[in-house]
Amino acid sequence: MTLPNLDFTHDPAAQSWVASANAEGCDFPLQNLPYGRFRRAGHNEDWRIGVAIGDQILDLRRAAERGRWETPLQVLLQPLAQGDLNALMAAPKAARVALRQALFRALQAGSPQQALLADALLAQHEAELALPCRIGDYTDFYTGIHHATTVGKLFRPDNPLLPNYKWVPIGYHGRASSIGISGQQLHRPWGQLKAPDADAPVFAPAKRLDYELELGLFVGPGNALGEPIPMAQADEHLFGLCLLNDWSARDVQAWEYQPLGPFLAKNFGSTISPWVVTMEALAPFRCAQQRPEGDPPPLPYLDSEANRSLGGLDLELEVWLQTAAMRAAGEPATRLMRSNFRHAYWTLAQMLVHHASNGCNLQPGDLLGTGTQSGPAADEGGSLLELSQGGKQALTLPNGETRSFLQDGDTVILRAHAQAGGARRIGFGDCAATLLAARAG
Ligand code: CA
Repeated sequence: MTLPNLDFTHDPAAQSWVASANAEGCDFPLQNLPYGRFRRAGHNEDWRIGVAIGDQILDLRRAAERGRWETPLQVLLQPLAQGDLNALMAAPKAARVALRQALFRALQAGSPQQALLADALLAQHEAELALPCRIGDYTDFYTGIHHATTVGKLFRPDNPLLPNYKWVPIGYHGRASSIGISGQQLHRPWGQLKAPDADAPVFAPAKRLDYELELGLFVGPGNALGEPIPMAQADEHLFGLCLLNDWSARDVQAWEYQPLGPFLAKNFGSTISPWVVTMEALAPFRCAQQRPEGDPPPLPYLDSEANRSLGGLDLELEVWLQTAAMRAAGEPATRLMRSNFRHAYWTLAQMLVHHASNGCNLQPGDLLGTGTQSGPAADEGGSLLELSQGGKQALTLPNGETRSFLQDGDTVILRAHAQAGGARRIGFGDCAATLLAARAG
């Protein structure tokens, strides 16, 4: 099958004049070109948007000043030079593609722009990264059917998957203000906890602290209030992806979640990776939507031939853990699991279209979480809740430590990469964050 939307920017043989981008296994080769918001570490200077290339960042403020760009591209670069990625997110897909093509040509080996742009690079280790854009609203979906089934079994052994699951892309409105960037440290939250045999809850630090392995979808152009987005136009509105750790306090969640769903168990912090990998970069990795034989077809407003054949995404996902003891001993993080986003029951397009189907207006830079992405096997759970079977079966780490849930000092690292025949491997960079002890009561 020939994939649509491929062009010279997906040529796996293309090389960059930034040597580190050509290294085997590099997350940010010339074919990726993800956007992030940065400034030089230790300098109180204005934020600007940059593009990750190898172990460097192309500073789009300097690039706009020094490079040679056609007028429409200069217009697109101006807000990026000022640190505003939302403006590019609001631009039509054709404009995003044109900028990607221009950046690719500028960074390609042999480009006449090399001499102009050589001092528009900053080493990533010298940069401070911020949230990539203004996130007006954040919604978290529940598209991982293996997660939904495993977690459902813990609560309802006879009826793990609720009857609406295969009809509705389930979601809830989250909290944008507490989204942080990779590298953050966050405190174990306090909350209401009620032991099953206790008469009343107590207010105390959560004990069952967990992560969730998710992707975050950034919305491109929005829709006006009252005007749904049809499936045929969904691609126009999908800007790109990041990794998302939806930190979860399971004991708070168990007590508070009925009848309105997650609340304080989720909104004390959510960590995202700093680089937004665009849908254009991910074009070679599209795949068919997975829907088992015999399942009901999506309702017409959530269905299209393009979505069935290419709505999925073949993206390898991993969770790594480094405990405080491992860090003190100089031991590297250990991988807890791997999974793949192709197992998601609902596609990115279906999340977006369902969200807007009642006329709800999405805006450029809104973040839609995919929900926890667990694989079909028991050791592919995207949270400790699943890997430890609700806390009953602790994992043993290589150094002999055990974990049912997270301990203070644990660093959780999410990683993702896409790899397919005929395409250059691309990655997302790390989404890492460390859990600190609860604040004193
Ligand atoms: Ca979640």
